[in-house]
Amino acid sequence: MRQKLFNKKDHTPNCATCVHARVIEGDAELLCVHEGVVDETDACRRYTYDPLKRRPTKHRLSGEFSAEDFKV
Ligand code: SF4
Repeated sequence: MRQKLFNKKDHTPNCATCVHARVIEGDAELLCVHEGVVDETDACRRYTYDPLKRRPTKHRLSGEFSAEDFKV
């Protein structure tokens, strides 16, 4: 599990997951301590991955259930 969270090869660098970015209240842009206001799709050579900013992908259910699925 820990290996999955910290695997740096699984994601593309962007400001949305960088440790140097801060969220600007009520705006889609981020505030970087090095570059100032940046878009969340930007990236630079100072990029450092912050696993706590990772947004997990949602798993969708098929929506087709039968009575067998709810039996214990
Ligand atoms: S501009 Fe660079 S250092 Fe700043 S948040 Fe984006 S990737 Fe991180």
